Amino acid sequence: MVKKYKVIYDRKLCIGAAACVESTPEGFEIDSDDGKANLINGKKIDHEVFEMILTEDQYSKFKDAEEVCPVNNCIKVIEIHE
Ligand code: SF4
Repeated sequence: MVKKYKVIYDRKLCIGAAACVESTPEGFEIDSDDGKANLINGKKIDHEVFEMILTEDQYSKFKDAEEVCPVNNCIKVIEIHE
């Protein structure tokens, strides 16, 4: 069975370190208004929380962003169980 993943981004926790933008520029960009990252094409699921379903190609790139982000649980890549 093919595994499926999604990224969950809690923007409240972001400190604007921009490591995610460097590692995964196709996924994150810095908002010029407040200096925090935006998840490009992310869907809002809660106050300042966004998610996006990942393709297999995107998985490792967003995993990199999760690893380089200095804030725990700010960027999370999780497996989806359907
Ligand atoms: S690396 Fe983490 S803290 Fe830094 S801008 Fe990206 S999401 Fe925010």
